[in-house]
Amino acid sequence: MTNENPDNQSRRKFLRDGFWVAVLSALAAAAAAVLAKGRKKKYVWQLDPAKCIACGNCATHCVLNESAVKCVHAYAMCGYCDLCTGYFVPEPKALDTAAENQLCPTGAIKRTFVEDPYFEYTIDERLCIGCGKCVKGCSAFGNGSLFLQVRHDRCLNCNECAIAVACPTQAFKRVDADNPYLLKGK
Ligand code: SF4
Ligand code: SF4
Ligand code: SF4
Repeated sequence: MTNENPDNQSRRKFLRDGFWVAVLSALAAAAAAVLAKGRKKKYVWQLDPAKCIACGNCATHCVLNESAVKCVHAYAMCGYCDLCTGYFVPEPKALDTAAENQLCPTGAIKRTFVEDPYFEYTIDERLCIGCGKCVKGCSAFGNGSLFLQVRHDRCLNCNECAIAVACPTQAFKRVDADNPYLLKGK
């Protein structure tokens, strides 16, 4: 029978415990890395309406046949004007919905009577090509309530957005995918 030195026994225990602490720490670190990877922030392209000058490039430079950029309406800013300069051509023949009086080339803006003298303007995104003509008209003489946004149900989130490259005012930027719109009138 050997009478082992108690110092040796406790050293072995210390080393054994240390080994398990190291293994568990490594496992915890690996699990944290996997979680962090899963939680890694995602970014998407969006345009800043405060920088946009409605140059027309959004309609023509998207890689999609029909641009992912559409007009949206900040109703909180809208004056519900009878003579909407985003809806009517300059000097319209009449303030009615005749095609000749409309600024939008695709008839994407619907004009609905609310009560005298107010009208509501809604965008049919299926028809909107993102040309920005209404945006220019509304910001030149109206309240600027019509503006452009990348619609994320259409956008392919290209690695390099072709419109961002062509944008003369650097209005395009990457934004958090959890908060993907830069809205006006909030
Ligand atoms: S390219 Fe830039 S300035 Fe032109 S319409 Fe698009 S966001 Fe606006
Ligand atoms: S004028 Fe251009 S941007 Fe405005 S709704 Fe019509 S197609 Fe869309
Ligand atoms: S990221 Fe691609 S699909 Fe989206 S707006 Fe830009 S060019 Fe179009």
